[in-house]
Amino acid sequence: MARTLLLFLVSTISTNTMAQQRTNPAIETGANRIEQQCISWRQTLHAYPELGNRETNTARFIAAQLRASGLEVQEGIAHTGVVAILRGGKPGAVVGLRADMDALPVTERTPVPFASKARTNYNGQEVGVMHACGHDSHVAMLLAVAHVLSGIKKELPGTVKFIFQPAEEGAPAGEEGGAALMIKEGVLENPKVDALFGLHINAQTPAGTIKYRPEGMMAAADWFHITIKGKQSHGAQPWMGIDPVVIGAQIINGLQTIVSRQSELTKNAVVISTTMVQAGVRENIIPEQVTLSGTIRTLDKEMQQDVLQRVVRTAEHIAEASGATATVTFEHKTLVTYNDPKLTEQMLPSLRKASGDVQLMEAVTGAEDFSFFNEKVPSLFFYVGGMTPGTDPKTTAAHHTPDFFIDETGFKTGIKAFAYLVTDYLQQAARGR
Ligand SMILES: [Zn+2]
Ligand SMILES: [Zn+2]
Repeated sequence: MARTLLLFLVSTISTNTMAQQRTNPAIETGANRIEQQCISWRQTLHAYPELGNRETNTARFIAAQLRASGLEVQEGIAHTGVVAILRGGKPGAVVGLRADMDALPVTERTPVPFASKARTNYNGQEVGVMHACGHDSHVAMLLAVAHVLSGIKKELPGTVKFIFQPAEEGAPAGEEGGAALMIKEGVLENPKVDALFGLHINAQTPAGTIKYRPEGMMAAADWFHITIKGKQSHGAQPWMGIDPVVIGAQIINGLQTIVSRQSELTKNAVVISTTMVQAGVRENIIPEQVTLSGTIRTLDKEMQQDVLQRVVRTAEHIAEASGATATVTFEHKTLVTYNDPKLTEQMLPSLRKASGDVQLMEAVTGAEDFSFFNEKVPSLFFYVGGMTPGTDPKTTAAHHTPDFFIDETGFKTGIKAFAYLVTDYLQQAARGR
């Protein structure tokens, strides 16, 4: 018994010592010191949310805080984006950190004292505006990381690029925006980013927990539009025309067999949802045309290409079988959020320094604009918990809803995760891994 206890003590001491060796006291105390400030930044941002490509006050706020931390700041990138550079005391690699800035057209219903009262016009409708996806937390955490890292910049062997991205949720109709526009405007160049890290606060993950997944973590979102052209006729005499409504129904079902019969679902999930059907004006008129629209979600680039081809083939041939035509077009909204497997493995110990609870997660069929960055540079995107520990994720409000709530005690984990990713990556690069 005594021997067992002794062994237990020895092993506990050695694990603690190892943990202490691995963590960096400057990051630990830096994160502790900035925590309250980070929460206060977040509450200010939360009270004054702005929609995508309209984040002008948010951008001004970010730029002011970054300048106060002594960084070189550039504004007006991809409309309202802000990019800041922190040069370390020694030469080396370049690490990028990204936070998104935009809010959503959702009317807040939470009881928090800093709840948003903002309203605006969105696509011709008067709407409330709310940080209902937690991007306010992302901005606040990244500002805090800038502060912590600037405190240890002399020891940093390389450069950190802080990327504050507008319009993650999509740009307003007819406008360019988001990650794709930032890339077009050269955000990954001068200096060229060698590795990029991004995080999302998650209202269904306990504060203090980190979740990650190598390779496809979040889905590619492709929107489809199918126009079926038949021949108009009297509702009483379908043989006089070609009925695009029945063909439309066959296509909707045909698309489901791409998922259930043609996709290798043990490899990765596929979702096809037809969400809009437009047809006809009167009960006794078979219309000439039907349009179907919806969204396709895939988690693997090859499966994505395969599914898109099958959607075209299925729609065209079902229509052709009845003598109609179908034309298919796609809008590629996001790519697969793909975590570079080598980089993920390399950086996992850094995430473990930030949290004692780092979990491998299931893939998500939701999508992220971050995917445009990860196509250009090896990247790692992960979830940081924002749910009050002990509550049930099934009953906590989902992202994009009026009751969406974030437990701010999770921020420290996010700050530390980014700080360790940067310092470890730069040190490993300097050692020539
Ligand atoms: Zn969102
Ligand atoms: Zn989001």
